[in-house]
Amino acid sequence: MTIVVKVGGAAGNALAPVLADLAGRRDFVLVHGGSREVDRIGEQLGRPSEYYTSPSGVVSRRSDPGHLEVVVLALAGKVQTEIVAGLAQQGVRAVGLSGVDGGLLLARRKEGARAVVGGRTVRLSDDLSGTVERVNVDLLRVLLGAGIVPVVGPPAITKSGEVVNVDADRVAARVAEALSSEALVLLTNVPGLLREPNDPSSLVPHIARSEFDSFLPLAQGRMRKKLLAAREALEGGVGKVVIASSAGPHPVEAALRGEGTVVE
Ligand code: ADP
Repeated sequence: MTIVVKVGGAAGNALAPVLADLAGRRDFVLVHGGSREVDRIGEQLGRPSEYYTSPSGVVSRRSDPGHLEVVVLALAGKVQTEIVAGLAQQGVRAVGLSGVDGGLLLARRKEGARAVVGGRTVRLSDDLSGTVERVNVDLLRVLLGAGIVPVVGPPAITKSGEVVNVDADRVAARVAEALSSEALVLLTNVPGLLREPNDPSSLVPHIARSEFDSFLPLAQGRMRKKLLAAREALEGGVGKVVIASSAGPHPVEAALRGEGTVVE
């Protein structure tokens, strides 16, 4: 049985303890985001991240062709290479794959992203974001069977060969589902779902399937995507999902022991 570990890339995430904790394992896929590096490299290239508000009031990052280029440089380039090198330092042989490699993450391009600009709703026709529809699980199984750990991140590819940006938490959910993983661990810069986003002591330790909808309104912004990813994974047959902190000495083992928000 495999586990899928997703490590966050926003400010405040720790990578070293996660890689050290995984040193003794070969039964995992590591999924990564990297929003801090996307922002940083975008700034350096004179392409700062831009945000838009949808008609329903949700704020999202613009995913136009210029931004997608930054995503490829930052995620498939820098972040993934650093993680593979970090695992090598722990004696773990790993291969970095974006969703484009080997058609690993087959996505559908999102149609009709809309933004409210100056009081008017406009269609973002150059939006290059998508939703993962299928994971080429054979490729992951070949690697895992050979004792090689797959390190997976955005972007993904469409049927017609277009490269699109995808949400890394949802990638992790789909990979866990495709591998029928026993657990999905979403490591982030907070201890889990918090009743008060700025108060780490307000952790929600456990969410049963039946209570899921009542907890969803607590989660704002990116945490909401994690809860939705957790639900998607559970519905896809994953045993349990833990949203937990990437900091601390043994973040993966702690999460598997139940430290964080356990959704099952
Ligand atoms: P990552 O890069 O680790 O995936 P994100 O920044 O995408 O991290 O998501 C985690 C963030 O979600 C937290 O830092 C916090 O600001 C935000 N958040 C919003 N609502 C909540 C909540 N109820 N509990 C915890 N975090 C929340």
